[in-house]
Amino acid sequence: MLQRARNQIIQRLMRRSYANDDEVYLFMLCLVATTFCLAIHLYLSVVFLAFGMWPYVGVNLFSIAVYLFMYPLIKRGRYTPVGLGISLEVMAYATLFGFLHGIGTYVIGYYLLVLVMQIIIPYGSVRLRLWVGLAAVACTTASLLAHFYSPHVSPMPAGIGNILMVSNIYLLIIGTVVELLIDNVLQHLIAGLNEKRMAELSTKAYTDALTGLYNRRYAEIYFEELAARQKQTCCVAMLDIDDFKLVNDSCGHACGDEVLVFLAGFLREHLRKSDKVFRWGGEEFLLVLENISLEDAAAVLDKLREALAHTPIHTQKGEVVITVTIGLAPLQVATHTNSIECCDANLYTGKRTGKNVVVAG
Ligand code: GH3
Ligand code: MG
Ligand code: MG
Repeated sequence: MLQRARNQIIQRLMRRSYANDDEVYLFMLCLVATTFCLAIHLYLSVVFLAFGMWPYVGVNLFSIAVYLFMYPLIKRGRYTPVGLGISLEVMAYATLFGFLHGIGTYVIGYYLLVLVMQIIIPYGSVRLRLWVGLAAVACTTASLLAHFYSPHVSPMPAGIGNILMVSNIYLLIIGTVVELLIDNVLQHLIAGLNEKRMAELSTKAYTDALTGLYNRRYAEIYFEELAARQKQTCCVAMLDIDDFKLVNDSCGHACGDEVLVFLAGFLREHLRKSDKVFRWGGEEFLLVLENISLEDAAAVLDKLREALAHTPIHTQKGEVVITVTIGLAPLQVATHTNSIECCDANLYTGKRTGKNVVVAG
């Protein structure tokens, strides 16, 4: 389940672009911190509401509004104001609490929580951290003064004291645990994100954008793998659409593209999973059929050719029927370039002798 949650988070992170890992870190840290604080204030609002403590409800609603305002800022990448905003809100809340009720032991805990947060936020220049530290000291002093000298404007009704004590203890403990763990969790997620990005990049590098088939660059890697893997009988074929220029000329380039996409799907569908299809050039496809004799490969490809010639392709410009000519040869993996040249020669023979044919040899 954790793995699934991780994958889903990574999937969501992939939708944004980031300048570097630090930015991913800040983005997630801001989201977690904002959501955590928002949840706390929602919870406190409900508790205070249940006891009819309106000034406290008001203060919490204000905090909720502040945190809701953070999300658009995070979306726009304004991480420093968000980090500072969270720190200042926690301090302001704790100070206000001191004025309303008196400082209590737990308020100090919240200041410490804010200070620890400064350490884990990577935005911090020393100056910025110093300012937050000074603000924490100033707020603590204000709270202490309020505790001793203000008349405690809105005293607590009996019954809520224990609820608040238990809530505060748990919130502080959970907050500290989150701060301790967040770095490991975020680094783990960033590693996963980078892995996925790399995988996506290599997929892009090795596939053709229009048809989604493997491209020529991948063919070189594939032939190396094949040479290392086995000594089985394989065949290689070059497939070329007949008179494709006419298709482009009569129904347009976009329609020609549709035909190419269709053909890519058709080839994948009519060949085995172990066979490989590469887009070799414009309307030329290289096929590698693994573990098959030349006769069987010729039969398979001839069936495919025949089926294609009887399959109307539905395009934006109406139905199009195409035929293909295929040059087939046994694959000598070590000298695969020679085998491909042999396919090309057979293909040329097929084109010369009337097209829509498989020529093997
Ligand atoms: P032949 O039967 O001798 O193969 O004739 P042909 O018209 O298919 O061959 P030719 O090489 O003269 O023309 C190939 C055409 O394929 C020309 C080019 O515009 C078209 N083509 C190449 N790549 C693409 C592509 O990505 N999209 C579209 N729509 N057309 C392409
Ligand atoms: Mg061609
Ligand atoms: Mg052609």
